[in-house]
Amino acid sequence: MTKVKVHSKALDSTIEVDRIIGHVKGHKKGPTLVFMGGIHGNEPAGVFALKWVFERLQAKKVSGSIYGIAGNLWALKKGERYHKEDLNRLWTKDLLASLPQNGDPAIHHDQAEQIEINNLLSKILKDEEGPFYFFDMHTTSSETLPFLTVNDSLLNRHFTTQYPLPIILGIEEYLNGPILSYINELGYVAFGFEAGQHDDMASIENCVAFIYLSLVYCGSLEKESCEYQHYHDILAKTTGDVRHIYEIYYRYGVNENEDFKMIPGFYNFQRIRRNQQLARSNGNTINAQDDGRIFMPLYQSKGVDGFFMIKKIWSPFLVISEFFRKYRLDRLLIYLPGVKWIDKDRSGLIVNKQIARFLAKDIFHLFGYRHIYADRNHYKMFNREANARYADYEDQPWLKP
Ligand SMILES: [Zn+2]
Repeated sequence: MTKVKVHSKALDSTIEVDRIIGHVKGHKKGPTLVFMGGIHGNEPAGVFALKWVFERLQAKKVSGSIYGIAGNLWALKKGERYHKEDLNRLWTKDLLASLPQNGDPAIHHDQAEQIEINNLLSKILKDEEGPFYFFDMHTTSSETLPFLTVNDSLLNRHFTTQYPLPIILGIEEYLNGPILSYINELGYVAFGFEAGQHDDMASIENCVAFIYLSLVYCGSLEKESCEYQHYHDILAKTTGDVRHIYEIYYRYGVNENEDFKMIPGFYNFQRIRRNQQLARSNGNTINAQDDGRIFMPLYQSKGVDGFFMIKKIWSPFLVISEFFRKYRLDRLLIYLPGVKWIDKDRSGLIVNKQIARFLAKDIFHLFGYRHIYADRNHYKMFNREANARYADYEDQPWLKP
């Protein structure tokens, strides 16, 4: 591994980092935490925050093992998002299975990075003790309040509601191959933190605050061993009236040759009225189809997600869905017409699209299912709870009722 120079426009400074930015093995036993920064090369905030925190962590105050990992080193060095393919879209089963083996050359720099990170994660999972936690830190092209992106498993929900931050559930239905979905499917707590605008000083501060809060919530660090309240307030002060749990109900996908431009000035979580003009595509206007809030509007040249729309989840829905999932009431779904198990291991459902439309996706969400396109007439649906490693986390204070 070679060291790479990474520049921050916010700080106007350059640091040198390795794949492993920092590793502290605490004097006491405890969980294993893995923080990732710079999966996108134009997002150095997480890398700078990790460097800062690891210069200050003291092994004698830490329980367990804490890693800080740099994502796309090639792209971080260049200050570009990625080389040929987005490193945060390469973690599908098929792409992982087709990675070059035994030192065969990678097809582009992004894949070379993926191979190194994949090997490192496997090594950490093998060498270290659980419970494991994975955190992926990002920034956005437009101004934003900090928030969490969370695959909707019950473990993730319980853990992430500790933070004074808005939570966006279910993003994995709209994105193909993010690294966190891959780790979630292995059954661990894993989620994303979006800290703010790429080159804003506040994004680095928010990442530092997020790292310290995470260390406390996992039981790696006592509140008294860091300025917990100070860091809590940094995140809490900006998020007061949007501190809810949201779900995405719409994504505008940008096609390869489309001339797409957001109307300037939209910010994350901004309230939108039905028919409000949001963007232009090949000279036509794109209007909001419904009332809601706009989420992650695209203000950079690379990217296929134009914008998302989100709405607050009705809180009784969260309680009911927890009950349904705990008691595996999804077994009853197969008595509905047009719904079948995918295989004898009951690893998923095949659902007729006509039926899915009639029942609405919400019902399947309630039971913990996320859907994947299968063919013209069917969805494949997989239960997010199927692989969850409850036993690994059962003694953790955040999981106790
Ligand atoms: Zn990113």
